Amino acid sequence: MEKETTSLNFLEQIIEKDLKEKYTKDQLRFRFPPEPNGYLHIGHASSICLNFGLGQKYNAPVNMRFDDTNPLSEKQEYVDAIKRDVEWLGYEWAEEVYASDYFQQLYDWAVVLIKKGLAYVDSQSAEEIAEQKGTPTTPGVASPYRDRSVEENMELFEAMRDGKYKDGEHVLRAKIDMASPNMLMRDPIMYRIVNDTPHYRTGNDWNIYPMYDWTHGESDYIEQISHSFCTLEFLPHRELYDWFLDQIYDDKKIRPIQREFARRNLSHTVVSKRKLLRLVNEGVVKGWDDPRMPTVSGLRRRGYTPESIVNFANSIGVGKRENLIDVSHLEFFIRDDLNKKANRVMAVLDPVKLVITNYPEGQEEWLETENNPEDETAGTRKIPFSREIYIERSDFKEEANRKFFRLTLGKEVRLKSAYIIKGESVVKDDEGNILEIHCTYDPDSRSGSGTEASKRKVKGTLHWVSVPHALEAEVRLYDRLFSVPDPESDKDVDFMEYVNPNSLEVITGYVEPSLKDLKVEDKVQFQRIGYFVVDKDTTADKLVFNRTVPLRDSWAKIKES
Ligand code: ATP
Ligand code: MG
Repeated sequence: MEKETTSLNFLEQIIEKDLKEKYTKDQLRFRFPPEPNGYLHIGHASSICLNFGLGQKYNAPVNMRFDDTNPLSEKQEYVDAIKRDVEWLGYEWAEEVYASDYFQQLYDWAVVLIKKGLAYVDSQSAEEIAEQKGTPTTPGVASPYRDRSVEENMELFEAMRDGKYKDGEHVLRAKIDMASPNMLMRDPIMYRIVNDTPHYRTGNDWNIYPMYDWTHGESDYIEQISHSFCTLEFLPHRELYDWFLDQIYDDKKIRPIQREFARRNLSHTVVSKRKLLRLVNEGVVKGWDDPRMPTVSGLRRRGYTPESIVNFANSIGVGKRENLIDVSHLEFFIRDDLNKKANRVMAVLDPVKLVITNYPEGQEEWLETENNPEDETAGTRKIPFSREIYIERSDFKEEANRKFFRLTLGKEVRLKSAYIIKGESVVKDDEGNILEIHCTYDPDSRSGSGTEASKRKVKGTLHWVSVPHALEAEVRLYDRLFSVPDPESDKDVDFMEYVNPNSLEVITGYVEPSLKDLKVEDKVQFQRIGYFVVDKDTTADKLVFNRTVPLRDSWAKIKES
């Protein structure tokens, strides 16, 4: 019991305290509030796991709230993608709600504020308003329109709503305190005019749109959210969140409280929808779900599983300080998951032909091989063997020192699930490139045959694919999208400068024939190379694989040598 309390994160501690002091369990309610202006990224996944995780832990409802107050950047496409991604991560929301559903209620409350003398229409330009804001150490200057009468404010606000003014002509501001040490309290804007751009849900119903601060807390209140979690940059907004609630709050109802936790950032990428949109729009990647993107849909297409992402998010913990998490930490969780789930298969990505000179021409054998040594239930399958096979070019050296445990002339290695072979000679072209490696095999050494020779230990084991049976596949190898850990660290340099120009390499590989039955999103381990997933670009006559992650560093080694 003791142990359990100490392992609570600080948000859980707050909830536990509230359960003791003011709420019953059934009053707990959370929400995840994305703005539908882009696809969800790995940072959002953390917030999803946090909010929905708390929902699961306390058996409390979690709403999916679309924070859709900006017709200029929001789209139904993004709503659909967000829902798909949250479902894929394995979470169920209680209610699907939209801030835009509350536009009338928010308008009515804004009228309440105007009538209390707590909001006014300002008719200055955005620049003028910004100039009067002051600095954290000097107070702001009151707008000349600050003391408009309630009647005049009402008349103007209604006219704004009715579309009588153009964008930017007026705004509605809360009348709070132009000298507040918190700049956000210096008469923040509550409404702006957006006249010509229809909203993807409410169309042309509205010509004014509520700002984030005015919308968020009141939406939490409408939904009776008990705990409203957001990222740390909203800490200074909390005072305003509370002030807005003060004006409309009914003390018989739940009063939501905002709490902040640290944003999670991932190395070698950017986690900001605005920046990710630039990568898409400027053609650096092929779309929001490009496997190089840190979006949930990109990771999914890259071969990540929901479990690996949830485990990653939960492993970080909930903190109060911003942190940059190395992408290798994320990669650890997908390797860990796929190690248990992905069948081991044969694929050769940089092939050289190997001829077994004493193996009868035209003969083929179907050899049994284990699907996954980490999973007893995975069973076995048959793979074809013949006189000509492909091996990895880097798995052969004519001469090598004693540390090279792969194939050389005069030495023996085992072909995985097949025979022991011995290097005999090479065939080269005029430039000295190796065209073929000639070997002999020991017919008694077949793996699993029970003979003395089959039990013989040799230093190396190679993966291979039978030439006449091999399927050609397009293999997409991904590298980090940015060449530095934190592309946003230097405020004077555009993050786009750090894009890695070699983040994608497309090669042709050869894979064992059983892979033709794989379906899109099926995941496999190419023996000794890495984890791969079938891409959606796969067609009846072309297999396309994405490399999810290399297997430890073996790919780096293959490329080096
Ligand atoms: P972006 O800058 O990518 O647009 P955002 O915070 O503006 O991010 P929202 O759609 O408003 O995007 O975010 C939905 C929720 O996800 C918010 O509660 C937000 O605090 C949280 N969130 C966004 N990015 C991160 C992150 N990197 N780490 C943790 N939580 C995040
Ligand atoms: Mg946002």
